[in-house]
Amino acid sequence: MVRSDLPIHPSRMSLAEIETLWGGDVDPLLPECTYDPELHTGPRLLIETTAERAAREAVAREVCATCPARVLCDEYALRLRPTSGIWAGRTAAEIDTHAEITELYEAMRSRAAQRLSGLEVA
Ligand code: SF4
Repeated sequence: MVRSDLPIHPSRMSLAEIETLWGGDVDPLLPECTYDPELHTGPRLLIETTAERAAREAVAREVCATCPARVLCDEYALRLRPTSGIWAGRTAAEIDTHAEITELYEAMRSRAAQRLSGLEVA
């Protein structure tokens, strides 16, 4: 079960959580980040410099780029809006921006559909 108040990064999910969230009727797509969780979530016991963090996040993005679960991870992150970590190749701030653009696009599309439904074809 997903705890929406405390998003679990895919790298730290149990196999049961992965199966519940992403399994469906087929074998779950295993996240690449499970092999090195701290690459995506940051070190637990060390403080990173800005340069160290940027370097770590760049490598994490490369791992995400080839991850078979990327699409599912992206949808999961957009729904949960995490506050830290790299998810589907994005930082939390980038996920927020992407979610806001998606919501704006959907609102514009909905308004356009409403206007078009009011027009009659001659
Ligand atoms: S896309 Fe990245 S963060 Fe998401 S499951 Fe894959 S490796 Fe992990």
